[in-house]
Amino acid sequence: GSGTDTLLQTDALLKSFGGFHAVETVDFAVEAGEMHCLIGPNGAGKSTLMKLITGTHDATSGRIFYDGQEITDLEPHERIRRGISIKFQVPSVYEELSVRENVRLPIQRFLSGADREARIEETLDIVGLADRADDLVGDLAHGQQQQLEIGMAASLDPDLLLLDEPVAGLSMEERDEIADRIQTLNTERGIAFVVIEHDTDFVAKIADEVTVLHQGQIFREGPIEEIRDDPEVRRIYLGG
Ligand code: ADP
Ligand code: MG
Repeated sequence: GSGTDTLLQTDALLKSFGGFHAVETVDFAVEAGEMHCLIGPNGAGKSTLMKLITGTHDATSGRIFYDGQEITDLEPHERIRRGISIKFQVPSVYEELSVRENVRLPIQRFLSGADREARIEETLDIVGLADRADDLVGDLAHGQQQQLEIGMAASLDPDLLLLDEPVAGLSMEERDEIADRIQTLNTERGIAFVVIEHDTDFVAKIADEVTVLHQGQIFREGPIEEIRDDPEVRRIYLGG
């Protein structure tokens, strides 16, 4: 997509864990409908930045604006209702429940109205798991679990969907399927994405804009063609 309105803006956002700055004075912006990838070495602060945006972590200082309003002090469920949804890095499905039961949980919790059952079935269709609806999530392949979690996050009608490493450990074929799913949700529903991913081929395939995080700070921003050839970006990945 190609939005021009700022959907999300952080202002000097900082998160300290016992004096260690995991995220340090970050000004991060996402345009409406944009496909934005967030990259950077392990420990750069990528997951922490996402958790600040969703309210999973409270900011130590700085502010967060969403859709023109400050959301810095809003509870996570209030941010979800305003249109921010996330798939965490660590799986957050119940393996001992069925696929349909998992899909039902966030829809029941966050959506009101009589069309919730229809939304559950629609979500199962979208992620290609309608024929596995009664199977336990623990019996799904890893790629299907990732599809399920993306579908669950997308079922809440977000304007901004944060995906923390949705293709880590997946095969090339599974990665392509996830890329297709993300692009379909972006183009057909206008959802803006922030996707954390290390594989630059995957990033090149989906991203309009790339932000490189390093030691809690924004190191580079720009199109992937500039970022991937940047020797300083290569250096920080090699631990320099
Ligand atoms: P990334 O997702 O880029 O790999 P994280 O955001 O998970 O990085 O972590 C950034 C830094 O903050 C790391 O040094 C990590 O150890 C530290 N960190 C993350 N979460 C916590 C926490 N809850 N308590 C203490 N330190 C944390
Ligand atoms: Mg992480």
